[in-house]
Amino acid sequence: MAIIGVLGLQGAVSEHVKQIKALGLEAVVIKKPEQLEQNDGLILPGGESTTMRKLIDRYDFFDPLKEFYKAGKVIFGTCAGMVLVAKELASDESYLEIIDISVKRNAFGRQIASFEVDLDITGLEDPFKAVFIRAPYIESAGQNVEVLAKYDGKIVAAREGNVLTCAFHPELTADTRFLQLFVEMVEEQKQKEGKVS
Ligand code: GLN
Repeated sequence: MAIIGVLGLQGAVSEHVKQIKALGLEAVVIKKPEQLEQNDGLILPGGESTTMRKLIDRYDFFDPLKEFYKAGKVIFGTCAGMVLVAKELASDESYLEIIDISVKRNAFGRQIASFEVDLDITGLEDPFKAVFIRAPYIESAGQNVEVLAKYDGKIVAAREGNVLTCAFHPELTADTRFLQLFVEMVEEQKQKEGKVS
């Protein structure tokens, strides 16, 4: 069975844990870099990316996170997590740079800072109710990036290799289908590594 870690420094941590458990998988709240090793996949949750990057630096997570990625483990960045994984940011210095996307923070404007939409997502048969909260979007994506969803012409979900990202909060509804896409990536990677799940 896959073990999924959720970076537990700030943000919507418990909601992800609840969803992972709802799929019958083991969830670990990661508070220390040493805890990363035991996990097959990692979620970088939504929250406040500037705070999260400060905490990542303060608790010496930066290099271990890069190592986790380089080891071929699967990483899923949601909302603020999307800001953290992007190779480029429109108005800040980029951070982990593990997916070839350029991201704009708080990109949907003030009036509609938070909203819900029924989104068509590649790989899901029916629309997914996506909750956006002061969300970023992807301004441009490299040629190896698979665009999974667009809203209002903007890219809001994408995948490259073992990195998955979305601008919305899939953990805030009871619908586990988007998380399932991530879990499938984790299972595939485990199989490649020759582990029996
Ligand atoms: N606006 C936040 C940021 O850029 C992200 C918001 C969220 O994760 N819901 O960090």
